[in-house]
Amino acid sequence: MKEITVLSGKGGTGKTSITAALATVVESGVFCDTDVDAADLHLVLHPSVQEEHTFISGWTATINPQLCKACGLCSQHCRFEAIHTHSQGEYYINPFQCEGCRLCERVCPQQAIYSKRNSDNFWYVSSTRFGTLVHAHMDPGEENSGKLVSQVRAKAKELARNENRDYILSDGPPGIGCATISSLSGTHQVLLVIEPTRSGWHDAERLLDLAATFQTGLCAVINKYDISPEISSEIEASLNERGVPLLARIPFDEEVVWAMEAGKTILEYRPESPVSHQIRSIWEALKNEVCLSPKKYD
Ligand code: SF4
Ligand code: SF4
Repeated sequence: MKEITVLSGKGGTGKTSITAALATVVESGVFCDTDVDAADLHLVLHPSVQEEHTFISGWTATINPQLCKACGLCSQHCRFEAIHTHSQGEYYINPFQCEGCRLCERVCPQQAIYSKRNSDNFWYVSSTRFGTLVHAHMDPGEENSGKLVSQVRAKAKELARNENRDYILSDGPPGIGCATISSLSGTHQVLLVIEPTRSGWHDAERLLDLAATFQTGLCAVINKYDISPEISSEIEASLNERGVPLLARIPFDEEVVWAMEAGKTILEYRPESPVSHQIRSIWEALKNEVCLSPKKYD
């Protein structure tokens, strides 16, 4: 079983529409959305949830105003400047700034601070028209997204083994943060989706540097290459220098947007469109790319 992870240096490159389109042609796959902070693969795959699990992500501290004597000790010790005072001088903790270190709980002489586990995050096993999907919901600003990615990937791997599937196809997060590192670790093949803009290439280069340290298989596509043929040529030359195979230059096609609006992949919406043909050839190339590096697989 091989895991293929679709990543992008930044958001808005078309990563999810490409992943969903690939899901249409993967013959034997389990699908996985590791962009847990802003999951959206479900918008196209329309999952029917079979299992729901709570993900405990960390702690959030709260001050009990009945016990607090407003000594200010907790505020002095909080390294994250999460403890503030109301205009009347009452101390309170901003939950969005609290990192859950629980130091304030220890230093409070009145035992006026208590912490609760954050349990508003969930992960799911769902059925879709293409196969099983493992995905998650995380509230904005929640921590431990990397841990949730590991959880989701571990379940996808277990299911792929149980269902005797050949591939796990993951829609990864944008950027190079914790969730991306967790998505990269141990995957077999990364497909990088690059947008031909200066910022798009800058962010893609950061991801290429990061991915290189994981020694995973790497290849790329330029999406909407014709919005800037000049930058696309520069990107192609740079990829060539780095030895990263460019699998496709995908043209801008309004029908991809219409397909997404209709809740379909481009292959379902317009099977014979040029983009649909390219998606099929990307999948063929991906399969070959995976086969080129058998030493990396378990
Ligand atoms: S738990 Fe840590 S981060 Fe949160 S308010 Fe207390 S000291 Fe600050
Ligand atoms: S340390 Fe305790 S008593 Fe002092 S301000 Fe903070 S919560 Fe209130």
